[in-house]
Amino acid sequence: MTVAQKPTDKQLADLAKEQEIVDLMIGIYCRGMKHERSVGTDKLCTTCADLRDYTAEKNERCPFLRTGAKTFCQFCEVHCYSSQRRAHIIEVMRYAGPRMLWNRPVYAVKHLIAVLKYRKR
Ligand SMILES: [Zn+2]
Repeated sequence: MTVAQKPTDKQLADLAKEQEIVDLMIGIYCRGMKHERSVGTDKLCTTCADLRDYTAEKNERCPFLRTGAKTFCQFCEVHCYSSQRRAHIIEVMRYAGPRMLWNRPVYAVKHLIAVLKYRKR
């Protein structure tokens, strides 16, 4: 296994899907918290738009992407987020998580199964 290995189309598709979910969750959180939308960003406040860009950057650089071992970030052993960003994203997940059940039930169930599997290890 080499680091320079390119991610497969499937891995890239999974990544895009994951990013879509993260975007969705940040959107739910930002609107739910009634943050003020900044001019220039279409649907997020400056802080949330910033967090969104940060997650996208981290996702693309994930060292596990190319090994096929990419999992939900919460189970990851490498905490690549800074503590401040990590606290922010945890807050987002906590808020948006239960609301995802209505928006994306299939994904929510998939995530729940992953959580249960992880805890069993
Ligand atoms: Zn916001």
